[in-house]
Amino acid sequence: MKYDIIIGLEIHAELKTNSKMFCSCLNNPFSDKANNNVCPICLGHPGTLPVPNKEAIEKTIMTGLAIHSKINRDSKFDRKNYFYPDLPKGYQISQFDMPLCYGGYLEIDDRQIPVTRIHLEEDTGKSIHKKGENYTLIDFNRAGTPLMEMVTEPLIKDAKEAKKFCQEYQKYLRYLDVSEADMEKGEMRCEANVSLQEKDSWIYEDGLIKAKEGKKLNPKVEVKNINSFKSVERAIDFEIKRQSELLDNNEQVLPETRGFDEDNGETKRQRIKETSADYRYFPEPDIPPLEISEEWLKEIHQKLPEMPDKKIKRFIQQYGITEDSAILLSNNRKLSEWYESAVSELGAWIEASGDEYERLERALAKSTANLISTQLLKHLKEQDQNISDIEITPENFAELVFLIFKGKINSSAGQKVLTEMLDRNESPIKLVKELGLEQIDNEEELKNKIKEILDKNQAQVEEYKNGKTTVIKFLLGQVMAATKGKANPKVAMEILEKLLS
Ligand code: ZN
Ligand code: MN
Repeated sequence: MKYDIIIGLEIHAELKTNSKMFCSCLNNPFSDKANNNVCPICLGHPGTLPVPNKEAIEKTIMTGLAIHSKINRDSKFDRKNYFYPDLPKGYQISQFDMPLCYGGYLEIDDRQIPVTRIHLEEDTGKSIHKKGENYTLIDFNRAGTPLMEMVTEPLIKDAKEAKKFCQEYQKYLRYLDVSEADMEKGEMRCEANVSLQEKDSWIYEDGLIKAKEGKKLNPKVEVKNINSFKSVERAIDFEIKRQSELLDNNEQVLPETRGFDEDNGETKRQRIKETSADYRYFPEPDIPPLEISEEWLKEIHQKLPEMPDKKIKRFIQQYGITEDSAILLSNNRKLSEWYESAVSELGAWIEASGDEYERLERALAKSTANLISTQLLKHLKEQDQNISDIEITPENFAELVFLIFKGKINSSAGQKVLTEMLDRNESPIKLVKELGLEQIDNEEELKNKIKEILDKNQAQVEEYKNGKTTVIKFLLGQVMAATKGKANPKVAMEILEKLLS
């Protein structure tokens, strides 16, 4: 690559709150009836007064705290003026120079990507253009819903990193339970600012890309309409290629806003980019400045869950599980909490067993992690289910782990029980009985069965006696088949060895 790639991201996320940002209307942009969650405030009628939503402010601050931002204890709202049919007031209430959060970072592959700011604003309504009709419908259900905008520093190095950043940010939003952050639904919307600069022509100073003396900067292009993670990568890669071709041919890159077209993977000009002066920002006169008190900030801090990076480290240390398992379990907050409650449910079983507590807890925590990653998640995937759909209680799952761990049932019986548990959340002990999966440990009973099998397989017995001892695995397989998998394999192996010697 002949040029330096400079990428910054702006990510909007619709916040999960009960009511809208400045009125008491239900925050339900996906209501199946148009314009049923509206009122004079979110329709921008004259003489109405907006009142900021406390829950939205808390969720924004919480997001800031999670990504190591500083919180502006003195903040305010501003009017961003522009005309668009889905913006009933003719301006959006946003935050200009005193955002709720500033600074911070997200770590992507051991690289810290600095965040500039997170501010709070309101969403617009939705225009619905019907194909073949010469009119446009407008649904204001989304107008005034809380929208949190995060802006990164222009220090993302390529399209792949931009995509990873968006994925990591989504994980954080879901972890914090502040947004559903589904890109396809528009609950999370990414815009990328992309420019290419001649090598050694620029410096990064005070949060800005500046030209070195005697050099000129190429303008940046803003790419919108990116509706999936894959599109983040495709749209940026297309822009890099487009801009480098222009520069190679000594043609000008225009400072414009371009929309990404998913169908052909290209970006297309929408308009020449506005500068902040075009928006004529000024302080919102109807909302007094915001003061975030020490106590309130403390309260929000206490609500902050343990974030995935910390949790992964703790899981490895506390439970002795592998890094891969720890990452897998920590990726989803609900799964990680479900895992830990299962492990803590195991405490009762450990105490009853009289074994050494700590050693057994770690061993069982590992078994639990393995059963989740090798069996449970696989089953859920096969049934196209999400971990949030799971109805198995941690208590019952713990019981299953213990039954397998203690050798009360073997792993193939364990699988059958688990499949059944996914349909109905029953105690595994009960299911083992019901499905007739109790293991045969009784030596006499097993001995008789094994004798029959040896009689039927004289050839293999001969082979064993002639030194081909690996054939014992075949014989064990026959025992397992004859008992429909119910024989205790350990006991059966011991008997086999004894009878064959
Ligand atoms: Zn309203
Ligand atoms: Mn915005």
